Amino acid sequence: MNIKDLFVKKKAVVSFEIFPPKATSPIEKIYDTLEALRGLMPDYISITYGAGGSVISNRTVELASLVKNKYKIEPLAHLTAIHSSKEDILHLLNELKEKNINNILALRGDIKEGHPVSKDFRYASDLVKFILQNGNFNISGACYPEGHFESANLDKDLDFLKKKVDSGVTHLNTQLFFDNQDFYCFLEKARKKGINVPIQAGIMPIVKKKQIENIVFLSGVKLPSKFSKLIAKYGHDDEMMRAAGVEYATEQIIDLLKNNVQGIHLYIMNNAQLAKDIIKNISHLLEGINRE
Ligand code: FAD
Repeated sequence: MNIKDLFVKKKAVVSFEIFPPKATSPIEKIYDTLEALRGLMPDYISITYGAGGSVISNRTVELASLVKNKYKIEPLAHLTAIHSSKEDILHLLNELKEKNINNILALRGDIKEGHPVSKDFRYASDLVKFILQNGNFNISGACYPEGHFESANLDKDLDFLKKKVDSGVTHLNTQLFFDNQDFYCFLEKARKKGINVPIQAGIMPIVKKKQIENIVFLSGVKLPSKFSKLIAKYGHDDEMMRAAGVEYATEQIIDLLKNNVQGIHLYIMNNAQLAKDIIKNISHLLEGINRE
């Protein structure tokens, strides 16, 4: 099924994001996680793409195929372009076709120091166009409620987002955010720009203090004072931090659902128990919304 059609069927779509095991680990390592996630009945599972390595050793397609063909869950396979050639992408598209996978999250990817930049793709929109010329795929894209870190401002970023959507993107997933007001403001501006595809809110439950440093460094997202206070209060205690992180994410999601968000995308980092805890907290509300 095309991811975009899920938004016609359901008022609030729920998905999880996972990453493939290392090339040196057996793929079976992820079976228990997938088994547990299947029990939560997500609408789809998205699978990250580790940019910079060789196309051959990349396990995104292998894991997406497992999700689709063994666990019978719709996969959304990520692909990044900035360190790839047209030949690399064609190779992956052929593999995706062979495994009957038609949903792709088309990304530019972060520019990795020391890796040559692609001569074929500069932005995600170049990848979107190339994919559509080479197969019958349904394409999702990334978006940034606080603006992408390389952008001069949110307004400029939204102009480019509009171009990306117009190049053939049918659904957007946001980068994680900790302040729902940023999402509401972004959504309003995106709609005013004429970006009309479904936009799913990306939520990452923070369960360890050290996660935060990485996330802020990698994505440049803002930490609202309520969240910083929580880290200061519970960051030293793993158990308390986990409970507080789950509660914060739950509150964010409940508020989003009450404000008619079209979907929640949970960045669970392969932690199925975390997904279980969050889904348990929101399942009542979710069922009610999707029954309406
Ligand atoms: P683009 O849409 O190309 O935008 C990149 C920058 O270029 C933005 O600042 C934009 O405003 C600007 N821009 C766009 N078009 C133009 C134009 N025509 N002219 C001038 N400027 C332009 N990374 C991975 O490596 N693997 C993953 O699996 C992965 N999954 C992700 C999933 C989600 C939901 C999100 C939000 C991010 C993910 N990322 C992943 C990170 C992503 O690769 C980085 O954020 C990257 O820096 C931007 O990718 P993009 O596709 O958003 O780029």
